[in-house]
Amino acid sequence: MQVSVQSARVTYEGAIAALDGVGLEIAPGELVSVVGPSGCGKSTLLRLIAGLIQPSSGSVSLSGQSPRAARGSGRLAFVFQDATLLPWRSVAANVALPLELQRTPGRNRAELVSRALELVALGEFARRYPDQLSGGMRMRASLARAIVTQPKLMLLDEPFGALDDITRHMLNEELANLWARDRWTGVFVTHNIAEAVFLSKRVLVMSPRPGRIVAEVPIPFDFPRDPALRARAEFAKLTGEVSRHLRGALA
Ligand code: ADP
Repeated sequence: MQVSVQSARVTYEGAIAALDGVGLEIAPGELVSVVGPSGCGKSTLLRLIAGLIQPSSGSVSLSGQSPRAARGSGRLAFVFQDATLLPWRSVAANVALPLELQRTPGRNRAELVSRALELVALGEFARRYPDQLSGGMRMRASLARAIVTQPKLMLLDEPFGALDDITRHMLNEELANLWARDRWTGVFVTHNIAEAVFLSKRVLVMSPRPGRIVAEVPIPFDFPRDPALRARAEFAKLTGEVSRHLRGALA
């Protein structure tokens, strides 16, 4: 799915301009990261793309459709920092939820759920409950719930922000593999520069509020991405470049 945001401005109640003059083009099947200081409007940008809020001026289109229409067609998935699983449902039943909402027939549902759980290495944990899982496993379940509908656009809002570094690294690798497999369009918000560089094909840097995109850094490494990439000099050079743009935006 193609994402096109043109001269978008978002103002919250109390006339706080969260975004101003945001323009953004993401090609179908491209995975981009968005980094910026806390409060610069990263979550607002994702909510705008998802059609959960409307721009006060400017426009958003998703492959020529309004975000609301695209959301209605079920081709859009959101992943939040909090895994937001229902505690009274098993892992499999949580992952099945979007399919139930779409009224997918039971037989197909079971097959899609087990496939999604296998893809995030949770096949053996289908019958467990969220409180029986580690934080990393809960996030995997949340990713499985997002990919189970085979979305065309994934919006990820600091999904790994609450995890320790080792788990975060593993999930970065798994997410890069999931993307390399299915090539959905992805917008990944984070304030972790290394994560942004590791995961995406392009890092967009936002200025403090009102947020605008002030720089973009292409990331030329091939997918699937090798964990050893993090130790390479080119990797350090790119994180340095993103970091310089961020400091520039703050100056
Ligand atoms: P980020 O994700 O980069 O931390 P947000 O998009 O959450 O930033 O917020 C951008 C700015 O908009 C912040 O100053 C925040 O306080 C403000 N903001 C976010 N949501 C609301 C809201 N519902 N009402 C009023 N102000 C909001």
